[in-house]
Amino acid sequence: TMRLSKRAQAVRPSATLATGQRARELQAAGVDVINLSVGQPDFPTPAPIKAQAVAAINAGTVDGYTDTAGILPLREAVSQQVQRLHGVSVSADQVVVTTGAKLALYTLCQVLLDPGDEVLLPKPYWVSYAEQVGLAGGRPVTVDPLANLKVTPAQLAQAYTPRTRALILNSPQNPSGVVYTQAELQAIGEWAVARDVLVIADDIYGELVYDGSAVAPSIVGITPAITAQTVLIGGVSKTYAMTGWRIGYAIGQPALIQAMKTVLSHMTGNTAAVSQVAAQAALTMDQASVGSMRADFKRRRDAIYPLLTALPGFHLAGKPQGAFYFFPDVTAAMTIKQVATSQEFVAKVLEEAHVAVVAGEAFGMPGHIRLSYASSLPVLLTAMDRLKKFMQD
Ligand code: PLP
Repeated sequence: TMRLSKRAQAVRPSATLATGQRARELQAAGVDVINLSVGQPDFPTPAPIKAQAVAAINAGTVDGYTDTAGILPLREAVSQQVQRLHGVSVSADQVVVTTGAKLALYTLCQVLLDPGDEVLLPKPYWVSYAEQVGLAGGRPVTVDPLANLKVTPAQLAQAYTPRTRALILNSPQNPSGVVYTQAELQAIGEWAVARDVLVIADDIYGELVYDGSAVAPSIVGITPAITAQTVLIGGVSKTYAMTGWRIGYAIGQPALIQAMKTVLSHMTGNTAAVSQVAAQAALTMDQASVGSMRADFKRRRDAIYPLLTALPGFHLAGKPQGAFYFFPDVTAAMTIKQVATSQEFVAKVLEEAHVAVVAGEAFGMPGHIRLSYASSLPVLLTAMDRLKKFMQD
């Protein structure tokens, strides 16, 4: 048999992708499955973005390699966006463009971690963080949240050791939709500065918030010291419905960004040139289409929230304020259905109600499930009907 590296043997496949796979298998077999396990907007990429990409292809300007860090106009557009959203000036040298935010996080782990270095992951955490830390030889250290699914410096301090290098903070959060307030972020930022822990701020859902402001508070820009202690991770996937284009970025101290560029130069070189042009178009176009997608997500959230909380045995920590997910505690529903784990619960929901969701195990929080509302309202309402019948049977 093929001998694989210890590294490859230790990595676990993405559970969110696995659930989607089973749903697609049932669909292929003719079962009418509603897939609420997906992590991408259901909208098409806005037309002006596509038009710019097509024009660049036809003009022949995207046929060759670009700078590993990304084309300058895109890096400038990213730095202008950071200025617009958070009031922070960063030079284009502090920006590196990657193949999705996923690769920005991966590359960051590669340049940051030595064997045994620890990274704090507040639960629930996005499934890839732990694997990426592990692939870099680091040790993911999970942090239990409060009942509101947030952590404060008190929880972080309990998990801190002298080996702690970084904290990955994701707000708005996948899977819970939780959004940290400015004051909560400031407290965490001050703690991180005092402990010299790098904050990796995954703000990929930062412009998908539904209560008041069109942008979530970010740890970047709170104070100069906190900003200097932070690497900002972002991208166009979620805000602009561009998951397939694979454009993300990291923004941070020049020495760190330079190290990421060097690693990337051996790994991918630049990411796809045409996608970079499309991302530049997204960041610089009239932002009205973002507003209309945001309004749609809000309508869905508001319609589904009361139905979900009314399901027997489903409990939400609060109304999610961002991203496009619900993350109810279903331990009481599991008791009603006589299953022992949320993984079994999810399998039963898929086989009997024909609704695909993700088990909380994937996010370090068994006893929960994640439902995405990146589907049309009629589809979501049908799914809620099915779940209601399922829980009543
Ligand atoms: N971070 C979080 C929390 C996510 O949910 C995702 C996508 O699912 C990503 C990062 C990566 O996004 P992408 O690689 O498409 O830019």
